[in-house]
Amino acid sequence: MMPPSFPGLVDSHCHLDFPEFEGKLGEVREEMRMNGVTHALCISVELAGFPKVLGLAEAHDNFFASVGIHPDHEAEPVSVPRLAELARHPRVVAIGETGLDYHRLSGDLGWQRERFRAHIRAARECGKPLVIHTRDASEDTLRIMREEGAGRVGGVVDCLTETREVAEVALALGFHISFSGIVTFKNAGPLKDVARAVPLDRLLVETDSPYLAPVPHRGKTNRPGLVRHVAEEVARLRGITLEAVAEATSRNFFRLFVPGFSSGIT
Ligand SMILES: [Zn+2]
Repeated sequence: MMPPSFPGLVDSHCHLDFPEFEGKLGEVREEMRMNGVTHALCISVELAGFPKVLGLAEAHDNFFASVGIHPDHEAEPVSVPRLAELARHPRVVAIGETGLDYHRLSGDLGWQRERFRAHIRAARECGKPLVIHTRDASEDTLRIMREEGAGRVGGVVDCLTETREVAEVALALGFHISFSGIVTFKNAGPLKDVARAVPLDRLLVETDSPYLAPVPHRGKTNRPGLVRHVAEEVARLRGITLEAVAEATSRNFFRLFVPGFSSGIT
């Protein structure tokens, strides 16, 4: 159990609607409490699954939802008005996850770029920030972000294996950088450098549950409670306390996604 003075952590990116968590939500929430994880953002990856994601945020005060289609989902086209309409729900605090992934898919990925543009346009239309996934596609991702004016709404780029140069461009566009369990892996040297360099007021932490469980749980089903290990590693890399990382990342999360939220965070 964390001491009462612990500022609390937010898992800024998880997939609690996935089958891995069927019937396990009670356990998941208890583990969050034990680890001082106060809130979580449930991320949508396809519109078919969105009602379940939204349901989590409607049922629990400390869960929020996003709406969007992950770049790996090939079949689902979407219009800007449709996305913007779904995003108007008060429990929906972000558009995504969207972005580009040239690692999992190959061939003509023009549809992926078009759909990414549609997400950015919808975000601008409803004034909600973006959750952006990018893998082996940083050049196109940053170019489209610039072309579509993504900086006007801002958001977060999930840092998987990207380099410091990519992070710097995303930061220059006004975006935040989020770190997952990958930053705890031994072979994540370049990413550890990024975690040292990102300004504290642009830093977020996430689990991407059920994937990417941090050390010492690597290979297991990831859960939001384990975001503490991500924050601990970021703290170690920066030479600051876990409390300082918790305070900064929580403040950043609410400023970005839930500006009207008062949780005693100053
Ligand atoms: Zn994800």
